[in-house]
Amino acid sequence: MSAQIIDGKAFAATVREKVAGHVARLKEENDITPGLAVVLVGEDPASQVYVRSKGKQTVEVGMNSYEHKLDVDTSEADLLALIDKLNNDPEVHGILVQLPLPGHLNEDLVINSIDPAKDVDGFHISNVGLLGTGQKSMVPCTPLGCLMMLRDHHGSLSGMDAVVIGRSNIVGKPMAQLLLGDSCTVTIAHSRTKDLPEVVKRADIVVAAVGRPEMVPGDWIKEGATVIDVGINRIDAPEKGEGKTRLVGDVHFESAAAVAGAITPVPGGVGPMTIACLLANTVTACCRANGLAEPEGLTA
Ligand code: NAP
Repeated sequence: MSAQIIDGKAFAATVREKVAGHVARLKEENDITPGLAVVLVGEDPASQVYVRSKGKQTVEVGMNSYEHKLDVDTSEADLLALIDKLNNDPEVHGILVQLPLPGHLNEDLVINSIDPAKDVDGFHISNVGLLGTGQKSMVPCTPLGCLMMLRDHHGSLSGMDAVVIGRSNIVGKPMAQLLLGDSCTVTIAHSRTKDLPEVVKRADIVVAAVGRPEMVPGDWIKEGATVIDVGINRIDAPEKGEGKTRLVGDVHFESAAAVAGAITPVPGGVGPMTIACLLANTVTACCRANGLAEPEGLTA
């Protein structure tokens, strides 16, 4: 293996430390405590784990955490009424509605009812438009985490060839916008892309956000490229015992690490950065809401 491992777990700890420092200053100098409200509808086990983890980390950096757990059959009107209340609550600086929502709720409608200034997930159409036009916005957490790691590793990304595999609204598209904003030459690949291996081979930076276990092998990667693996896939691991599983990314780690210059592991790469960036977005939103200088290095 030749690639440098980009340690997302350690990097996320430094982001959280920065956030905690800023929260402490906001409390001391301005008597303001940033607050994050997380809304969970239903009892999806994975969502429950995420929400618990978000709440715990929010409190750990000194912010207020407000958890709203609603029944699976909550009506759209009741959910919108709660969001309206949170939009108007000055103690709440960030609002996150955990996705996916139960099928009877219109996700777009719900997300677009959040005050864009409190939309710490960055999914509101106003924030999508602001990001797309290079204006100050709330930036989606996972791609923001990827950008932070890339900037930390390379310094300037200007002029680099970047290929983003995946065009989802939550990862692929905002990732591409962020890389473009940092003056990369960006290609967005997807399931209809012709000759994907050749496309990937051109890239100085590869961001894989596909959701297919180990789809990108090392022989697609240009020597020395930086590989950011967003994928989180659970696969069978009979070598660990009967019925056991393990997590892998969208990139075949061993073969890619043999040619890449740097690579994020799964787990321990992009994953931990996502919640750290949620906390960063909340402190940024709080500063903006109060007309205060926002912390440096915590947004795009
Ligand atoms: P998604 O909405 O399912 O999008 C997947 C994208 O991959 C689509 O654009 C799809 O293309 C493309 N794709 C599928 N098969 C392909 C193929 N054979 N070749 C090229 N492109 C292909 O997924 P997502 O929400 O963006 O998530 C992607 C992965 O990231 C998942 O593993 C997810 O668990 C993980 N994730 C991790 C974090 C984190 O915190 N680390 C956060 C979010 C997501 P089409 O558009 O043409 O269908």
